[in-house]
Amino acid sequence: MGTRKKVHAFVRVKPTDDFAHEMIKYGDDNKSIDIHIKKDLQKGVVNNKQTDWSFKLDGVLHNASQDLVYETVAKDVVAQALDGYNGTIMCYGQTGAGKTYTMTGTTENYKHRGILPRALQQGETNRIIASHTMNKNSSRSHCIFTIYVEAHSRTLSDEKYITSKINLVDLAGSERLKKSGSEGRVLKEATYINKSLSFLEQAIIALGDQKRDHIPFRQCKLTHALKDSLGGNCNMVLLTNIYGEASQLEETLSSLRFASRMKLVTTEPAINEKYDAERMVKNLEKELALLKQELAIHDSLANRTLVNYDPMDEIQIAEINSQVRRYLEGTLDEIDIINLRQIQEVFNQFRVVLSQQEQEVELTLRRKYTLIDKNDFAAISAVQKAGLMDVDGHLVGEPDGQGFGLGVTPFSAKPGKKAKSKKMFKEQLSTSARKEGASSPVGGKDLDFSTSKTQLTPSSKEGDVKDMLMRDRETSSIEPLPLDSPKEELRPPRPSTPPPKPVAFEDFKNERGSEINRIFKENKSILNERRKRASETTQRINAIKREMDVTKEALNFQKSLREKQGEYENKGLMIIDEEEFLLILKLKDLKKQYRTEYQDLRDLKAEIQYCQHLVDQCRHRLLMEFDIWYNESFFIPEDIQVSLKPGGSIRPGMVPISRIMSLGEDDQDKFSQLQQTELPEGPDSFSFYNAKVKTEQKHNYLKTMMGFQQAHRK
Ligand code: ADP
Ligand code: MG
Repeated sequence: MGTRKKVHAFVRVKPTDDFAHEMIKYGDDNKSIDIHIKKDLQKGVVNNKQTDWSFKLDGVLHNASQDLVYETVAKDVVAQALDGYNGTIMCYGQTGAGKTYTMTGTTENYKHRGILPRALQQGETNRIIASHTMNKNSSRSHCIFTIYVEAHSRTLSDEKYITSKINLVDLAGSERLKKSGSEGRVLKEATYINKSLSFLEQAIIALGDQKRDHIPFRQCKLTHALKDSLGGNCNMVLLTNIYGEASQLEETLSSLRFASRMKLVTTEPAINEKYDAERMVKNLEKELALLKQELAIHDSLANRTLVNYDPMDEIQIAEINSQVRRYLEGTLDEIDIINLRQIQEVFNQFRVVLSQQEQEVELTLRRKYTLIDKNDFAAISAVQKAGLMDVDGHLVGEPDGQGFGLGVTPFSAKPGKKAKSKKMFKEQLSTSARKEGASSPVGGKDLDFSTSKTQLTPSSKEGDVKDMLMRDRETSSIEPLPLDSPKEELRPPRPSTPPPKPVAFEDFKNERGSEINRIFKENKSILNERRKRASETTQRINAIKREMDVTKEALNFQKSLREKQGEYENKGLMIIDEEEFLLILKLKDLKKQYRTEYQDLRDLKAEIQYCQHLVDQCRHRLLMEFDIWYNESFFIPEDIQVSLKPGGSIRPGMVPISRIMSLGEDDQDKFSQLQQTELPEGPDSFSFYNAKVKTEQKHNYLKTMMGFQQAHRK
């Protein structure tokens, strides 16, 4: 196994009374043939033509009996097949040279039986011979006999068995088509009568060439059928049948050439070993029974009560699951170890419980929040576009999961109460601001911003300012400034090329963005003012600290002076002089000042942080509104904008600009048709329709989000 082996090539010469002794000579070791063509036979042919050939082979069989041929050529191959090696024996040669005689022999005479019946005999399957019919195959066709061998060991315990096959090939006649013309005796190139032999030769040449990795087996039926019998892991033998007569020398030469080419082919014989699954299972069962017995003996020797080693049933597994749960809860201190199977099940149940808990936690979170994968940038940007997430990636929404929706005002926005509640809210804030003794940085300013520029109305509950602003932010991108402000009507005609963004931004800040810009600037100035105050307070604190240090030092000096001069006590009380007393008072006062200022600074810092947040928010909104305005002013067709106006069926901000932009002609048509057909007359149905559209949009949004979430779970 694993070593390469050459194809064995033998020659069998058909007995004849007219053997060409002059031309055909065998080597002393009977392993070579020399061919010599007499000059006078080469009539009229150029002198430099070759006249001598020598072929090295594995054996020449001259006047050999069928017995000897089988011994020499086939016996080893068949023996090896019984040990699991595939084998191929091929007879090659011109018609009438004795291929069929060699392979099958004669039916009439037992002594003259060929390789096939003998191989079957060697394989101890004599009875097949009787039913075997020796078909006379045409010299034009190939004949392949395949003997399949499957050998099991006589001992039942051996589950290995071998399979192999022996291919016995009686090829079609190899005679060639002579080229017409000139001298009949001249050796010249000719083609095979049988084309497949030519393909066989090509495959043989490829097999003999170590550098070739592609073997053309698929070219014809013959090579295809012999694919795994030529070369590969087979023991291969070629027997070339030749005539010994001078008249057949030309064909003899080409047959010998084929033989020597075949000798270049190497194979790598290997055993075909298989495992008998049934026997293997039986053996393992036996082994298992034995081991169980062994285990039982061990248990009884170790005084262990009967331990069950069988697989666990559902009840036992459920018990282990409950043990694991109790262990995790803390109501069970230990889980007793019983056997390996039980330990494995305990671990398994840990995994089960863990994954259940994970799912429960996730479910609880999903019930409460809309979860988005932080790595899914598409989802995040979609949510940001929809205004549901701030720039820091925090979801905007109420923690209890209610009242958060796209374009849906989370407050009770009853039109009737609008004006009233707005006023109430303002009053409430200004009083609270007065109480604090300072103007709140967020106070009326941002309230103006949120109430006048959005549909929001303050909650009838006592909502704090911060909450109010959060809500403002929540809807800021959803509910931008109304499009139908009087200014808009007088808008000059749209320029053909949009102005550069920085220029447009300046315009925006003076026009529609003026209010936001004003609030933004105000918030910024409040922020700056607070910063200034914080810095002043810090300076004061530092000054106080320095004074405190000086006072402390003076006090220490007084104290040491007193200690040096001797101390006075009166009824247990220390007597100190006035100077020291004043210093103590001063230090006390300074400490008080320090604490107050320090508290102020802390408050200021909190305010600054909050103002900063507001400024950021305003800036963000300013830019967003600008983007919307910019698109509307220079990109979105005006007829689409009709639908965007309040009362139209699209509200800006809800539909990403990119989608509005991508509405084709057809969509627009559908849109106006929809408006005409679906909208009955009367203002009541109008608002109903709007409400319906809102609901649908919210529904679509939620569906999209669910889609995202599901895609992430996968
Ligand atoms: P092929 O199959 O190569 O065409 P055959 O095997 O049919 O040739 O042989 C042609 C004839 O020669 C047959 O009658 C066969 O019995 C006979 N013959 C061939 N080889 C021998 C041999 N070695 N001894 C006796 N007869 C032979
Ligand atoms: Mg034949």
